[in-house]
Amino acid sequence: MHFIDVIIPIPLQKLFTYSITHAEADFLMVGMRVAVPFGKSKIYTGIVYGIHNNEPTAYEAKDIQQILDETPIVNDIQLKLWQWIASYYMCTLGDVMRASLPSAFILESETVITKNTIKTIDESILKDDEFLVYEALHHQSSLKIHDISNILDKKNVLSVIKRLIEKEAISVEEEVYEKYKPKLVRYVKLHANFSTENALKKLLDELSRAPKQSDVVMTLFSISAKTKKPVKVSDLANESGASSAIIKSLVDKGILEEYHIQMDRVEYSGEETEASKRLNEYQKVALTEIQESFKTHPVTLLHGVTSSGKTEVYVKLIEDAIKEGKQVLYLLPEIALTTQLVTRLQNYFGEQVAVFHSKYSTHERVEVWNNVLHNSAKAKIVLGARSSIFLPFNNLGLIIVDEEHEQSFKQFDPAPRYHARDTAVVLAHMHGAKTLLGSATPSLESYFNAKQNKYGFVEITKRYNDVLMPDIELVDIKDALKKKRMKGHFSDRLIEEMTETLKEGHQIILFQNRRGFSPIVECKTCGHSPQCTNCDVSLTYHQYRNQLRCHYCGYNAAMMQDCEACGSQDLDNKGFGTEQIEEEVKLLFPEHKVARMDLDTTRGKYGYEKIITALEQQEIDILVGTQMLTKGLDFRNVKLVGIMNADNMLNFPDFRAHERSFQLMLQVSGRAGRTEERGKVLIQTYNPHHNILQQVSTNNYVDMFNEQMNDRYNFKYPPVYKQIKITLKHKDYNRVETASIWFAKSLRQVFQDNVLGPESPPIARIRNQFHKNILVKIPKQQSLAKTKEAIIKINNSFFSIKDFRSVRVNLNVDNF
Ligand code: ADP
Ligand code: ZN
Ligand code: ZN
Repeated sequence: MHFIDVIIPIPLQKLFTYSITHAEADFLMVGMRVAVPFGKSKIYTGIVYGIHNNEPTAYEAKDIQQILDETPIVNDIQLKLWQWIASYYMCTLGDVMRASLPSAFILESETVITKNTIKTIDESILKDDEFLVYEALHHQSSLKIHDISNILDKKNVLSVIKRLIEKEAISVEEEVYEKYKPKLVRYVKLHANFSTENALKKLLDELSRAPKQSDVVMTLFSISAKTKKPVKVSDLANESGASSAIIKSLVDKGILEEYHIQMDRVEYSGEETEASKRLNEYQKVALTEIQESFKTHPVTLLHGVTSSGKTEVYVKLIEDAIKEGKQVLYLLPEIALTTQLVTRLQNYFGEQVAVFHSKYSTHERVEVWNNVLHNSAKAKIVLGARSSIFLPFNNLGLIIVDEEHEQSFKQFDPAPRYHARDTAVVLAHMHGAKTLLGSATPSLESYFNAKQNKYGFVEITKRYNDVLMPDIELVDIKDALKKKRMKGHFSDRLIEEMTETLKEGHQIILFQNRRGFSPIVECKTCGHSPQCTNCDVSLTYHQYRNQLRCHYCGYNAAMMQDCEACGSQDLDNKGFGTEQIEEEVKLLFPEHKVARMDLDTTRGKYGYEKIITALEQQEIDILVGTQMLTKGLDFRNVKLVGIMNADNMLNFPDFRAHERSFQLMLQVSGRAGRTEERGKVLIQTYNPHHNILQQVSTNNYVDMFNEQMNDRYNFKYPPVYKQIKITLKHKDYNRVETASIWFAKSLRQVFQDNVLGPESPPIARIRNQFHKNILVKIPKQQSLAKTKEAIIKINNSFFSIKDFRSVRVNLNVDNF
């Protein structure tokens, strides 16, 4: 008798056991996929977790349907990591499995397949059964598993589907992303009309009366003479110091001709790689210190101010790891995974760099997975977001977690609610690898760990090339308002600095915090503001689509002409989002190009890139944006950064609001003046004496840390205490209230005063579900494992109560 324990991608408390034949037992290995029946009629792809001879006692083991792999696709270290995640973050192995594997690997009853429209394949490579399915997809746009069962007249079809995916004939349906659009770079040349010597001479005579324009033309000649290559508009603008308006006028007059060349940024061009840069003395010291630190501290924190050249230090560490034949994982917040960085690393490491993030298609993700699994030369260095910690590394030598303070490393929903930085540390440990955490504004936890000597610690306090830290000025808008020196949301100081910056031909970034301020419509007559029908929130107004939208559930409606409540037509947009700032800027500086970067303008795989490219190429003078702007971008020509309102960040009801505000403001400020010229930052606030603002303006991390840690001690918050948040959800308010009171009472019997709640969150109803939160605070000396055990026990008794069975409970460990 032979059995296997199988992980199925659904939240089951226990592994399920299936029986296998002797031959199957000989063939199967842990980490392979098997198709298994489950429940009445479902089929799932499972991962073999254990092979043994112990018949389950509680139920009769069913047979597996078939084996899907010849060799394991998941290795032992991964399974160990899954186990750790499930236990630390209090979720099931099924949850972890679903988060880990590319969806193409998890075929199941619900899977919908479609023809791969990106690639046409040679049909002769298809076997008969494969061809039948492929053929059917010519007539029907999508098929489900049971359709395929019907077509092939058999039950076991997952392996056929798997083969079709491998041959890239079909895709597993998922969100459809924007198709790849190649990046076009703007170039200019002299118009063909002036190719003769005479014509050229005439032109130069004419231009002698327009020195600026003549300058541009002369610069164009000198660049082409020097480089003998096409001339980019951006290079011409840089070298001649001319504004894009002047160049445009030359194009309009037919003197210059503009054209585009397609540039493929995502794919490695195959050019020779460059040698990495020589480090300056500060970087060199930091590198040696990191290498020393690694000898005693496998996890080390690098605190280096913005633009200190941390990336170049990482590059040296990566080179060393690669030389030893190891794999490297370079983790970044999703949004910081820009082509700027990808290109930079590809310049050094060529095709050894693989990129992995959520906007990639299934095929792209499967390809990276397989390259990592086979330790292929094409994926020695994986550059990826949060979920790349799940890749099948087998020989990891180094993990870099860049921007380690970033909140987006934490997954909130669905389970596993893991933190990629903390999980990376565990993963590295399993491989005997080193972890380097890098940030200009470390998280309190990491800095605290460094102070406790749990992590090593290295600093770079100087910017590369001695570029000065930007000059940060606080602008008192309360005072400005009183003195009537505000135009909309702009203080006279901000307008002054903007005018100056634009005059010098530099660019500007305006930052508006995403949270807290949304443009809400309010009736001026009766005060009514339209609400989401599923959630307890006001709808936000989106000018660009003339729509009202709910940010929680996506509900939307056309903007109304008159108040739903009283019929008045006097409606007002309250609050200010990026859209409104953009509008105001356009009115204040009508002759300049303004663009906006937020969730709405950056949808799709390349939405974000387009705006960044436009800014890089100086097609935008003023960029208005949210949080997205803060992430490791390097814009040479941005000299002024304006933070529209610091107070909404500081006042956000969250124990980390102050820490986050500090990080956010310093990171945005870091975008100003990254070249010789010193950058300027203006922060508008009602409260310029706020300690955090003082600390931001003097770049005083240590003061911020000490003061915040004081609060954390006093109020028992992380990193001093650990914390687990329990969220209960139900569509019936009374039910969720009774349930949460029961839950909290049971927790109090064990943890006494360290239980807070139940509390209704600020938005008490989301997607028609009422929420209640309970917080368990865990002192350092209290065992985390025992705490979780107790919570799980309570959770189990909770679900044995009939009335509570329909309540959903989310456990969130380290919920911050
Ligand atoms: P950080 O990651 O600390 O913000 P970066 O690594 O992006 O800083 O470096 C800032 C700028 O300085 C980049 O444009 C980078 O190319 C340049 N730079 C950093 N170190 C060197 C070096 N050793 N030699 C030449 N240029 C460097
Ligand atoms: Zn809603
Ligand atoms: Zn009204």
